[in-house]
Amino acid sequence: MSSDYRPLTIVVAGPGGAGKSAITSRLLTDDTNLWMSRSWTTRPWRESEPRDAYTYVDRATFEDAIQAGAFLEYDEHFGNLYGTPWPTPTDGKDILLEIDVMGAKWVRKRTPEALVLLIVAPNLEVQEARLRKRGDSEQSVQIRLERAALELELGKTLADVTIVNEDLETAVQQAREAILARRATA
Ligand code: 5GP
Repeated sequence: MSSDYRPLTIVVAGPGGAGKSAITSRLLTDDTNLWMSRSWTTRPWRESEPRDAYTYVDRATFEDAIQAGAFLEYDEHFGNLYGTPWPTPTDGKDILLEIDVMGAKWVRKRTPEALVLLIVAPNLEVQEARLRKRGDSEQSVQIRLERAALELELGKTLADVTIVNEDLETAVQQAREAILARRATA
């Protein structure tokens, strides 16, 4: 692709426990034209995740970066800050963001042509089980579940495509088809 290629921004959004990470990691493995943004967070590293799942920083560093205008969007969840640095994709690649629904709202505002994929769990029981499996505390599971209903409402107003993540293969296929369809019209 030429160096004046204008990258497509693909947002994989949805509440915690919907299965966003499983879908984004499959999309990345299968599609070498995707460049994944790594978010910053002030939350501590979780044993169940890779060391580079986020750029882990303290609150002062994050706040300095906000002041410096370093983020495309940022939000606070459960007392921790999360943000997407302005993306710098490798030439010719499209940008993949895995963020929450509020973050997607900001990306939509700043990049109206972004493709927003809303990922939802098939039901609350499955979502709860996924949150527990990754080691969230009981309190965090409950807060996330309560928040999920609000996120879904907002998410539906933003999404180009809503994907119910019951079977991972089917969900990945639907995401891939949405990306290919959007690239075909670019
Ligand atoms: P977790 O602590 O479970 O990794 O993430 C908590 C929430 O923050 C999830 O819903 C996740 O999608 C969201 N999140 C992760 N990175 C970002 C980001 O860069 N911006 C925003 N707005 N949310 C994020």
